[in-house]
Amino acid sequence: MSIIRVALNVPVDTLFDYAATDVSKEDIGLRVRVPFGKKWMTGVIMEVGTDTLVSAEKLKPAEFIFREIPPLPAALLNLFLFCSHYYHHPLGMVVMNGLPSKLRSHQPIKIKKLSDHFQFCFTDSGRQVDISAIPARNTIKRRLLTELSASGVVSNREARQCSPGALKVLKEFAELGWVEELPVPPSVTSETSSVPALTAEQEIAVNTITAEIGKFNTWLLHGVTGSGKTEVYLRLISCVLLQGKQTLILIPEINLTPQLEAIFRARFPTTSLVSLHSGLNDTERITGWLQAQRGDAEIILGTRLAVFTPLPKIGLVIVDEEQDSSFKQQDGLRYSARDIAIFRARQANVPIVLGSATPSLESYHNTMTNRYRSLRLSSRAIENATLPSIHCIDTRSAKTKEGLSEPLLQALEKCLAQQHQSLVFINRRGYAPVLLCKSCAWTANCHRCASRLVVHLREKKLFCHHCGHQEQFPHACPACGDQDIVPFGHGTQRVEAALVERFPDARILRIDRDSIRRKNAWQGILKTIQNKEVDILVGTQLLAKGHDFPNLSLVGILNSDVSLYSTNFRASERLFIQLMQVAGRAGRADIAGHVLIQTEFPEHPLYRALKQHDYDSLAQILLAERKMADFPPFVYQALLRAEAHQIDTALDFLTRAAAVAEPSNNIEIFDPVPAQMARLKGLERAHLLVQSHSRKQLQRFLTEWHKKLKTFPARKIRWVLDIDPQEF
Ligand code: ADP
Ligand code: ZN
Ligand code: ZN
Repeated sequence: MSIIRVALNVPVDTLFDYAATDVSKEDIGLRVRVPFGKKWMTGVIMEVGTDTLVSAEKLKPAEFIFREIPPLPAALLNLFLFCSHYYHHPLGMVVMNGLPSKLRSHQPIKIKKLSDHFQFCFTDSGRQVDISAIPARNTIKRRLLTELSASGVVSNREARQCSPGALKVLKEFAELGWVEELPVPPSVTSETSSVPALTAEQEIAVNTITAEIGKFNTWLLHGVTGSGKTEVYLRLISCVLLQGKQTLILIPEINLTPQLEAIFRARFPTTSLVSLHSGLNDTERITGWLQAQRGDAEIILGTRLAVFTPLPKIGLVIVDEEQDSSFKQQDGLRYSARDIAIFRARQANVPIVLGSATPSLESYHNTMTNRYRSLRLSSRAIENATLPSIHCIDTRSAKTKEGLSEPLLQALEKCLAQQHQSLVFINRRGYAPVLLCKSCAWTANCHRCASRLVVHLREKKLFCHHCGHQEQFPHACPACGDQDIVPFGHGTQRVEAALVERFPDARILRIDRDSIRRKNAWQGILKTIQNKEVDILVGTQLLAKGHDFPNLSLVGILNSDVSLYSTNFRASERLFIQLMQVAGRAGRADIAGHVLIQTEFPEHPLYRALKQHDYDSLAQILLAERKMADFPPFVYQALLRAEAHQIDTALDFLTRAAAVAEPSNNIEIFDPVPAQMARLKGLERAHLLVQSHSRKQLQRFLTEWHKKLKTFPARKIRWVLDIDPQEF
């Protein structure tokens, strides 16, 4: 009899021992169903041994070992181990939450044997078949035979497109010996005419990376918007495909998946590509995941979670828009998919490419200290496409009405006359961010969060954008009874309404999280824009990321000043990144682009750098500030977050936590403070910041500290360690 040590999805930092027969080290990574308390749980075998500290009468036998799919590869298990250590999160929870939900169930999964990776090849005896002898009513048979005699093969995917019953017919053909089921040979890039010649800068980037394709390096591909980073990715992938290896590409937004997927499919039509994102159902997800695990999927395109996909033949990792905050998970295991991707690349000794027009200051700094290697693309790839001109409208002199200044309105008018598209960017959805009583200054606040309720006129309701709470408009001020309560400030709905009034004939489309809630709404919107069925777009940051709108020539930016003097030390970096991205939407093809920023601070260094498209100079300024203030990337941080019904409970916990800490020289512990969002969903929040100049020392400290924290009574308090925190 052997002992298996099992990772289970329970918040305890240990593996669980069970007795098992007929197991060996080969079974590490298999799923297993075990009794746990009064119920069953499914976990993963992490170790196989012979001894245990559990007494014989308490040791229970494992109930069932799942063998329908191969074990999780050692590399993936090591990745889970690393995450558990680095993020101080229970191993079992890391493992089980990293797996598709079908693998967490108590039932074996049913596997469809066929994958896109197979094709049916016509055999000699198949060629003897007389098609005209097949009855005409057997349309599928006839169509397949016609296709086979014309091209010699039908792929799995083509068969499915032909008819849902086509695969069954092909199976019958196989039994008759008419076709043979064979794996699709590794695809060599079909060099179609649509492959552009590389620009000089792209060529340098491609050649430099491919020269070292067989080993680990972190490359920062720093290219202005429209510089053709995607083309660089495509060339690198094609190089890796030729070696029969897999590429993992991480992208920030689910919205971006179909667009990129289409580009990849067009370039590599016979390559098996799976796309893994939160829009998939469980079956779709497990299917893609298994294709990756078998090594059948050659390109794996996905959001954050895809970083935990098994990749036996990994050859390259790409993280597009590496600075994007969505790569950081904000609950449970608070991992950074970008950082884990780098770990994976190092583990597998393959290159990783971080792409961005506006790299995070961390990554930029890493190129300066030679930890990453930098490759620049400084001009736009399409001939004659130049970067947009950027100007500020000084709203101290040009007064705004409904958030819009006259110079901006005139520019929009001109754009309309030329039948070009324009975009008005305001990063705030709803009608107005505040409902205000004019006589006593009462504002409508969320009773569960430390935030104001946002006015949504269309729905005639007030919404909390943090917890989703909604309520009816009050008829009168609850504080003083006055009926003069008005929406104050501007959101997308209000700007949209103002534009409709000013330009009644223009086709205006608002794009924010409210307007794309419907499934697939986004696809429709993109098509509308591409088909030039819209003149003015009003939108939030949803629009800012990565989309290519060739007909867009004007971008107006409202209300960005609010982030200039924020207390969050990352606010300037984020604003700059966001504005660079929005500005980058203008003038992508043969139309010149203009960007107008409404601001009261036209001389602010951030706007000055933006006008020059000068990422470097602003990055230098921000890095100098960060260095002076001892902020990342010059220090490494961890945040102990606590939540409770009473703020004192949370602060108390943090004070006791600080008291038991035994910091070494290089560890700095700050005082407990309420979080920036001091109340969320009815819970009071506070935190305690710890930082160090040495990541190693910080980790060593956290490990010891964490052990002590776990012995604290956990009543009335929820706490978590957030490593490399992004939000405060
Ligand atoms: P980025 O991701 O860097 O913002 P994209 O990859 O979206 O830029 O490329 C911008 C545009 O340039 C796309 O329309 C793309 O097809 C085109 N493009 C890229 N490389 C080339 C090239 N070498 N020659 C011509 N057009 C190119
Ligand atoms: Zn009032
Ligand atoms: Zn709320």
